[in-house]
Amino acid sequence: MTDAAAGPAPEVIIRSERVITPRGIVPAQVEISSGKIIAIGPPDPARGGAVVQLAADEVLLPGLVDTHVHVNEPGRTEWEGFATATAAAAAGGVTTIIDMPLNSLPPTTDAAALAQKRAAAQGQCQVDVGFWAGAVPGNEGERRALRAAGALGFKSFTLDSGVPEFPPLDPDGLERAARQLAELDSLLLVHAEDPDCVSAADGRGYEAFLRSRPDEAETRAVARMVEIARRTGVRLHILHVSSAAVLPLLGAARADGVRVTAETCPHYLALAAEDVPAGATQFKCCPPIRERANAELLWEGLRAGMLDCVVSDHSPCPPALKGLASGDFGGAWGGIASLQLALPVVWTQARERGCTLADVAGWMAAVPASIAGLETKGAIEVGRDADLVAFAPDESFAVSPDMIVHRHKLTPYAGQRLTGVVRRTWLRGRGVDPGGEPRGRLLTRREDRGDG
Ligand SMILES: [Zn+2]
Repeated sequence: MTDAAAGPAPEVIIRSERVITPRGIVPAQVEISSGKIIAIGPPDPARGGAVVQLAADEVLLPGLVDTHVHVNEPGRTEWEGFATATAAAAAGGVTTIIDMPLNSLPPTTDAAALAQKRAAAQGQCQVDVGFWAGAVPGNEGERRALRAAGALGFKSFTLDSGVPEFPPLDPDGLERAARQLAELDSLLLVHAEDPDCVSAADGRGYEAFLRSRPDEAETRAVARMVEIARRTGVRLHILHVSSAAVLPLLGAARADGVRVTAETCPHYLALAAEDVPAGATQFKCCPPIRERANAELLWEGLRAGMLDCVVSDHSPCPPALKGLASGDFGGAWGGIASLQLALPVVWTQARERGCTLADVAGWMAAVPASIAGLETKGAIEVGRDADLVAFAPDESFAVSPDMIVHRHKLTPYAGQRLTGVVRRTWLRGRGVDPGGEPRGRLLTRREDRGDG
């Protein structure tokens, strides 16, 4: 809490009986000036400015930070795009997204491609957008320039990425990239599945697809990456952990002082292999959704801090590429679009397990912001950006395609009843108006250099 009587007059004050802060859930007013939180204190009628009083059934959450979003623009804009992705983000309470370097054309593997991305995004974004770059074979000479141009970190694959223009690094290439990124004090993000453990699986059966990407594919790849991080000192982030068998490896690595963080995704926590119907390729993603017992272990890992954060891995494609007509898991694009639904999907499950909104705000806002190095994002705290969400945690709704703002409406959550409704989203103190002028900024490594 900060003494609200000192300092400049706020332009906006948001009051709520339940404000989710790093110090707990408190009744408070959040004072905002020039887009920043300037004070948090008890309600004070003497303070000027426009007052927004949240309803009794609403809490004030920090805007979520989703560090794993495939926007696909430029080049595959028919798959998603900055306008639709950021509108969906705002509707889902997400005020910052970090775009993945692949599936757009060109992929973000040199500074010119990053400039193209930024040009494509400029003026279209309803929320703030940052960019990961790629570390691929042959772009060693580009990485320093990418970092200087504001890339927040570098993503690599240990196996085929699904698109030919973004090839994987072999173990030597990963080691060299790790050494280089350690020198640059950057972050190495890895899609970790061992290609030797992964096989092709055609057909409509989910079981065969799941067996084609076993737990061992993840454990072997993560073990190898941990050893590389240990040798090189690089900061390592394991993307989309699906197998709970990975958790002891992460725990042991950290106990040894290896700098490694890890994320999981809403679909691994909320969906179960046992429930995937034959041919239901809207459930296909890589690594795969595993059994219910595995999901429970992921929840334990999250609660125990072995998994650091939950991000969407929003990876849409045109519905035709999901091959629903044939239902062939082998041929279907692997990816689940959930940017707009991630918060209620996670909250629905979290509250059943006795977790709080403060836990969720940590996993989905504060920690991802910290991993991406965005010091002004992710928490309701003095000095941070006033990115805020009015959330009704007890209201439920049924997911129907017509409410989806993503470019494509196909979702494995269709028909599910979820708890938690985003009523309103603020970006730097101003309400996001989906039909209004986009005010999202393009973020660089130092957020205050945002040029939106
Ligand atoms: Zn991804």
